Amino acid sequence: MSLSRGKAIRVDGIVQGVGFRPFVYGLATRLGLVGDVRNDTRGVLIRVFGPTSIIDNFIDQLQSDPPPLAEIDDLAMEDLPAEDHDGFVIVESQTDSRPTVGVTPDAATCDDCLRELLDEQDRRYRYPFINCTHCGPRYSIIEQVPYDRPNTTMRDFGMCDRCRAEYTDPGDRRYHAQPVCCPACGPRLAWLDESGRAVEGDPLVLATEALQAGRVVAIKGLGGFHLACDATRPEAVARLRRRKLREEKPLAVMVRDIAHAGRLVELPPYAEKLLGGPVAPIVLAPRKHPTGLAPEVAPVNEMLGVMLAYTPLHVLLFEQGLDVLVMTSANRSDEPIVIDNDEARQRLAGIAEGYLVHNRRINVRLDDSVVLATPRVPTVIRRARGYAPGGIEVDRRVDGILAFGPQMKNTPAVGRGTRIYPGQHIGDLENTLAVSMFHEVVDHLQHILDVHPTLGACDLHPDYTSTRLAERSGLPLVRVQHHHAHVVSVMAEKQLDRRCIGVALDGTGWGDDGAIWGGEVFSFDAAGYRRVLHLEYVKLPGGDRAIRQPWRTALAHLHHAGLHPSPFMDHDGAETVWQLLDSSIDQPQTSSMGRLFDAVASLCGVCHENTFEGKAAMSLEGALETTTRHYPVEIDDGVIKVGPMIA
Ligand code: ZN
Ligand code: ZN
Repeated sequence: MSLSRGKAIRVDGIVQGVGFRPFVYGLATRLGLVGDVRNDTRGVLIRVFGPTSIIDNFIDQLQSDPPPLAEIDDLAMEDLPAEDHDGFVIVESQTDSRPTVGVTPDAATCDDCLRELLDEQDRRYRYPFINCTHCGPRYSIIEQVPYDRPNTTMRDFGMCDRCRAEYTDPGDRRYHAQPVCCPACGPRLAWLDESGRAVEGDPLVLATEALQAGRVVAIKGLGGFHLACDATRPEAVARLRRRKLREEKPLAVMVRDIAHAGRLVELPPYAEKLLGGPVAPIVLAPRKHPTGLAPEVAPVNEMLGVMLAYTPLHVLLFEQGLDVLVMTSANRSDEPIVIDNDEARQRLAGIAEGYLVHNRRINVRLDDSVVLATPRVPTVIRRARGYAPGGIEVDRRVDGILAFGPQMKNTPAVGRGTRIYPGQHIGDLENTLAVSMFHEVVDHLQHILDVHPTLGACDLHPDYTSTRLAERSGLPLVRVQHHHAHVVSVMAEKQLDRRCIGVALDGTGWGDDGAIWGGEVFSFDAAGYRRVLHLEYVKLPGGDRAIRQPWRTALAHLHHAGLHPSPFMDHDGAETVWQLLDSSIDQPQTSSMGRLFDAVASLCGVCHENTFEGKAAMSLEGALETTTRHYPVEIDDGVIKVGPMIA
């Protein structure tokens, strides 16, 4: 065969551990090209030889139709002199000094695996741990890099001959799928009763019976345990709430497929793709009426969080005849999600009435990600399973920076080269378990990224747990204003590189002047900002107590606007608060948009107590009707007056 030319193609991005080499192999072989493909520190290197037009075709398909979990950042090409090759081969990786960042997020069960799962003729028929190169556990099972079976919790299971044959065959769809397994060699399910003792019988059947009887069941998933119950039965949902000490905060539900999700919520087209894709997050969308769900699922919210069965185990539960399940992170109130079987028995005692467990260890704690279905694009509001540990490329070196994050919804981040790796969502750093998870997340990121921090970044707030952790780290610190951090994060995410206008509408953040900021307009870049506009300062009587009790903020706003206390504000202590507002005693001052929402929610009579964060704003949103009218807004010397609006 006369070879007209050759090309070296370097592919950067998420191209390792996603079936990229077998895909290249398949494509080259189909087109009759010869050469080789290999992983190296930077990504994938391909050398192809053959007729020019066919090489062009190869490059087109490489870009237009990569494997589902791959993300190509860059393709660089170079001409090569023609070479003789017998065929196309995959060259095994050479190990090198700094580990490659080939760790991909966990991925929901793919269509091919789903088909096999439900195919009686398949050897993995009804096997709850079926996976392939395109789906299954990834980040949640990794202990070390490079991403290879011995460095994952799947090292507990020796591959049987048939699995090994698939694993080593470049033409197989399980070629180098690290978690490959089957009923003969892989993990198994077990059912434990309320006291944590193993019970004989089919675990799936026993779990289904418990759920159908209205019980609260702990189910071990991909990134942790869920607490589940039948979402259509009010007494079951009330029971879960009672046992979990979660009074009103909305619960997410899981359904079998898109058609079912579409019966519960209004989904924009992109959201269907997201729900059914590898990320498979909880999508928060406007609910339909009626849903057939127990009202206890999300009592104060017009939005409902829905996800699809994203592991084979979940799929099999629905196969047993279950319809809609409440699926909430298994923990006690605000603690981190439970991942280990023994941990489950201890921490969920008194909550779970049965445990559906398995013996594949989870190494990395990952909650379900939550995405808000805004009309045209998704807004990620909790970034964990399916997204972590994906990085964000920025236009400068961030190597060795460890960012400690805030107090609420904490997410630390580690910089490597020119990429920022945010850790998965941890939650509020309000208890010792959350703090240990913080260390777990940071240590793991540093370990797999091989980064040794040389600089810390923390919030300006002196009393945040994360600030204290930063101070104790011994690193030189940069203290960042909370809302500047918010807007710069958006700048990085959207890859904006010029000076921007940033609007941060938030609950609480320590301001440069010691006041509590949260309704801010900045002119800013990564290096600094000018506060151009902000909401007028209003007193926050009782500080943190005012955050939990919006009626206090409502009184503060009435007082500020020169009005009288409303006669329906007859809460215990209202009179004392009014006296406090009248007095010259120092009170914290705030420009927070969250507190303005709280005040309005209370003044409208929809919410006087925040039994969970954001309840007042959520209730207010639920009570809204769309209008084109607006309240008077006055701006005076950079201050947005709120008094006239309240009046
Ligand atoms: Zn699959
Ligand atoms: Zn096997």
